[in-house]
Formats: sequence, structure tokens, C-alpha cells
Amino acid sequence: MPEGDTVWRTARRMHEALAGTVLTRFDLRVPRHATADLRGQLVREVVPRGKHLLVRIEPGRTLHSHLGMDGSWRLRRNAGSSPGRDAHLARAVLANDTWMAVGTDLAKLDLVASEREVDLVGHLGPDLLGPDWDPAEAVRRLAASPERAAAEAVLDQRNLAGIGNVYQAELLYLRGIHPATPVRAAGDLDRMVRLARELLWANRLAPMRVTTGDRRPGRRTWVYGRAGEPCLRCQTLIRRIEIGPLARRRSSYFCPYCQPEQDSPAGVGTS
Ligand SMILES: [Zn+2]
Repeated sequence: MPEGDTVWRTARRMHEALAGTVLTRFDLRVPRHATADLRGQLVREVVPRGKHLLVRIEPGRTLHSHLGMDGSWRLRRNAGSSPGRDAHLARAVLANDTWMAVGTDLAKLDLVASEREVDLVGHLGPDLLGPDWDPAEAVRRLAASPERAAAEAVLDQRNLAGIGNVYQAELLYLRGIHPATPVRAAGDLDRMVRLARELLWANRLAPMRVTTGDRRPGRRTWVYGRAGEPCLRCQTLIRRIEIGPLARRRSSYFCPYCQPEQDSPAGVGTS
């Protein structure tokens, strides 16, 4: 599942392949941008912003995408005109003389004037992998809603940008915090956001996400995706929980022993 580390790595690869070169191909396969043609324009840079990816193209255009749950940008050598076997899933194809970047299953795709980027990413909190990462501001934003469940609060990109379901579950486990614990009872928020940054930073270059230090299958995460399996520390069986308002429930995972339940807000159920 793409989280801040995946997007950071994707942006870096695309930057290396496309920045400073002229586009020889530019196809957006979404109705409202289908006629956009930026062939011949120079790609200035490709930058990540939380879980969003921005391709800045001269003069003053930005291609914004969000990978959602299943999206990806893949690079291949530009050896011809075909975007490859996933052509029917491609939503965007960008190429220069050497490389072709194919965006598939993108949850969002917009082409905007660069000065309008703020409309798309201006709501984001401090970017965990950004050059402007600001832990104090992330803490301030989290603390502003003290009754919110910790799992929901750290997933909210307006508080801090880059955490998805995997890091949410792993972060709370490592801090010994039950996912439903209200933010006011979640202990030292400064330590929590700094740990979040360390986890994403450590994985930003790695093709395989590991939060345990153990690369063996089934042991790469402490709790995420491990419901019904024993906790790697205490052997208690990991459980799955649904967090958040009904319309946007998210799964979390926790160890009932390592993450004892505090006073839970309403609307939380375990399975
Ligand atoms: Zn445990």
C-alpha cells in the first residue's frame, strides 16, 4: 500500500528520469484533461508532498497525482510507443527520449497551474519526509483534537502528511498505544511524531517496508496485517479493529497486551 515512503521513492526515481528533459509524450487518460498536450515542454522537477506527487513542468504547470490504495508510477525504457502490458490501466503516460513513466490506477490526477498547487496540497500538515518537516507543528495539530482516536488522528493528512494504514498501526504499537485511545491520553506526542519520521525515513530507500528490523516473511511488521498471529514480543494474538466514523472506517491492528485499552471514544468496535 503506497504511503509517504513509497511516494518519496517514486518521486525521486521520476525526478532522476524526467527532470531537466523535454517531454516527447504526454497523454492523460481522464476525460477533463484528455486534450492536454505538453509535448516539447521541459520537466523542471518531480517532488513528493506527503502521499501526493507533483510533476512540475515549464512554464508553470503541475501534474498532480495521488496513488490511493493501488496506484503506481512505473518507469521503463522508452523503446517504442507502447506503454506496456498494463496499457489499459494507464491513466497517464509521460516520456522523454530515454524514459517512459506510466501512471496506473491513480486515485487522483489533475493538471493545474503551478500557483494553484495550494488548492490540492495546501491542506496538508507537516510532511514527514519533506525538507520542511516540523514536528512541533505536527504535535500542535494533533493536540488540537484531544478526543479523537489516536489511529484516526495520525492518519489525518491535515495533522501530518505521509502516514497510511501500515505506519499508523506500527507507530501505535511501538508507542504502546491502543488505536482507540484518545489523543489526550496517547502520551508524549512529540516522541510519537519523531518516531513516525524515523520509521518513514528508514524505509524511504527500501523496496521492502520493514518496521521490525526483520526481513523474513511474516515478521516485517509488528501488527499490521497480522490479525490472529502471535505478537512478536509477547505472543498474545494480534487483533484487528475498525476506527473512525462509519463513512470512513479504517482498519487498525493491535496487541491487546502491549497496547492496553484506555478510555475509548464512542464508535469503536473490535473484531
Ligand atoms: Zn504484545
